[in-house]
Amino acid sequence: MSRYIATRAIRGANAIVAEADALLKKAIAEKGADTPVAFPNTAYYLPVILGMLGHEASKLADLEPVLDHAMRMLHPIPDAEVWTPYLGETLDSGMATLLAEEVIEAVRFAYGEEPQAYPGLVLAGSTSFTSPDNGGGPSTDGHLNGPIDDIQLRSWGIQLVDGRMPGFAAIVGAAHSNEAAVAIVRELQKRNILTFLVGNVNGRSMIDQLVEEGVEMGYDTYIVPFGRDTISAIYPLGFATRSALTFGGMKGGQWRDILLYNKFRVFAFVLALGEVDDLKYATAAGAISYGFPVIADTVIPEILPTGITRYEHVISMPWKEIEGETEEEKAVRLVQKAIEVRGVKIQITEVPVPVPYGSAFEGEVVRRADMRVEFGGKNSRAYEYLRMVDLDEVEDGKIELIGPDLDETEEGGFMDLGILVEVAGRKMEKDFEPVLERQIHYFVNGASGIQHIGQRDIAWIRISKSAAEKGFNLKHFGDILYARFHGDFGAIVDKVQVKIFTESELYAEWLEKARVAYDERNVRIGTMTDESVDQFYSCTLCQSFAPDHVCIVSPERLGLCGAYNWLDCKASFQINPTGPNQPIIKGDIMDTEKGYFSGVNEYAVSASHGSVSEVAVYSIMENPMTACGCFECIAMLIPEANGIMIVSREDTSMTPAGMTFSTLAGVAGGGLQTPGVMGHGKFYITSPKFISADGGFKRVVWMSSILKEQMADQLNEVAEREGDPDLIEKIADETICTDVENLLKHLQEKGHPALEMEPMM
Ligand code: SF4
Ligand code: ZN
Repeated sequence: MSRYIATRAIRGANAIVAEADALLKKAIAEKGADTPVAFPNTAYYLPVILGMLGHEASKLADLEPVLDHAMRMLHPIPDAEVWTPYLGETLDSGMATLLAEEVIEAVRFAYGEEPQAYPGLVLAGSTSFTSPDNGGGPSTDGHLNGPIDDIQLRSWGIQLVDGRMPGFAAIVGAAHSNEAAVAIVRELQKRNILTFLVGNVNGRSMIDQLVEEGVEMGYDTYIVPFGRDTISAIYPLGFATRSALTFGGMKGGQWRDILLYNKFRVFAFVLALGEVDDLKYATAAGAISYGFPVIADTVIPEILPTGITRYEHVISMPWKEIEGETEEEKAVRLVQKAIEVRGVKIQITEVPVPVPYGSAFEGEVVRRADMRVEFGGKNSRAYEYLRMVDLDEVEDGKIELIGPDLDETEEGGFMDLGILVEVAGRKMEKDFEPVLERQIHYFVNGASGIQHIGQRDIAWIRISKSAAEKGFNLKHFGDILYARFHGDFGAIVDKVQVKIFTESELYAEWLEKARVAYDERNVRIGTMTDESVDQFYSCTLCQSFAPDHVCIVSPERLGLCGAYNWLDCKASFQINPTGPNQPIIKGDIMDTEKGYFSGVNEYAVSASHGSVSEVAVYSIMENPMTACGCFECIAMLIPEANGIMIVSREDTSMTPAGMTFSTLAGVAGGGLQTPGVMGHGKFYITSPKFISADGGFKRVVWMSSILKEQMADQLNEVAEREGDPDLIEKIADETICTDVENLLKHLQEKGHPALEMEPMM
């Protein structure tokens, strides 16, 4: 253990704990000990304090024992002559620092000072502070992110479990130059690593550098600017702590388990860019306790022996070291080193296009002003169609552009575009066509500077000027699709060829054919019922985080995350027969109405390691399906209304149950059966099997307005099917009421059917 680092970490810890103490005393004097403290939209209080100490801090007075604890972890600043350093002192200092930092942020919230202002900044995607009145759209501008809410944590959780997102990087400080800053985040984005930005060097932050270079930040681009000070590093560590609490099923106070969980399951690391001061050393020591190594771009003493982290603890890779290397080359080297030291598993398919490529670019928006050309939208049409053909009809790797390329259109113009992907494979099935076709959206979006929205014949694609300047052309769509279908679906796809039509006759001819196929598929999916198949599928993908949870996926009930339906699971089983999606033979039908099947029960017992003995596939009141944490919606009984409410995870408002989505999620998740509460996928709501044992869709008395908007057409069809065309209007939402009293008033006024139905309990 480096004596130098220990000394500086101890010094940093002593200073920050004293600062927190002074700040807290002042706050209590000015605002009173009972002033509430909370991070917004989370059920985990102040997460590091909750995780490490088990304290549910909710008012200023609750922070006093936290600081007492931190003070007990402090060590005297060592006398260089006599002192022999040991790792424990550094780690104690790190933990004391984190507790103090979380106290400071909490006090800032009590004063209404968070999130930090950043005039002019607009973040891509919603943030914790998205105002509810813009329906979860782009954030209100002018603020840094502040803490991540539980909703975002869960939605990233699913990407972390299925491997799309290999881990996260916390960047502290500022890069050597703006060019270096961009190069580093691009390297991380390419690998789909989530990037958290905090801190500054002499007042300059990496956030400033990226703003100056026009790099889009926000949840959608995997770059989250937390704050311009080192203290904001508490947010990435709070995120890590909550991962263990949310997905690992740990409870507050299980600090040792939480730290080990992070060491083995959360692939995170710290990049310390620029000069490292005492507070940064102390904070880095806190990160090391979680098993997160620190890689610095300056000369600092290294801590090589392993133990707390899996490999080295602290690595120094001076930016200036190699003469003649470009900033990009240095960035690659730094990021690669970090990945190696942390043992992050990266699987990426090399995609031969002239722009950066990776799923971190999926959320990028191409604005009209930055657009070179667009396909679909208002002025033109774009469609995509994937079909299966015989093996001898496909010339693998053949990519044809039939018609003019984009350079024949004026800048900012539009064109019609058709993309036909033909695949063949011995294990390919007609049923997999829609599963694969849906991937086109993700694959195309992965290219930086390309925006893809929609699917089928309502696709809408934009190519940015900068992508076109780098040489991106229409054939590159084919290159992307070829590489990704082979890379991701090689088990079912042996050959792939792509035709891109801009020539009007062929374009029109294939649009006709595509539409015939879309219609056929609609009919096929629409007629597929749970009765029409003899096997369901399991999904245990989330078990790496929620060890006892299993989703039972049937044709009429998709997985609760909304990402896997029965056909997806079937395809996934073909791709990986020992993977997370296994066929479940239904077996004896013990109860058609409630949905008890002998095969499902047997499977549930073994997959949940005995924690669940029976599952009623169609009921919320009796042995409902368990939930991990990724559910799109939560349904919950409202006894007074004799019905249920459905809250969408995009909805941050209060609900008639007296809890917000975040708080409810704590009740619904964790792989436990709780009668009356159920996590589920959005589209399950429209299924005829939606809680059919308990009366079905007519039981819905309250529903987040965003669901009503997003699924307006489908919900109207459901209302027709239920024989009550005005049903949707009778269902309340958060704009009508958020308490039971007004809910009942609304239901009575509108004559909601649930009031007349037989009692739910
Ligand atoms: Fe997780 Fe269920 Fe989605 Fe599978 S279907 S990824 S288990 S939530
Ligand atoms: Zn899950």
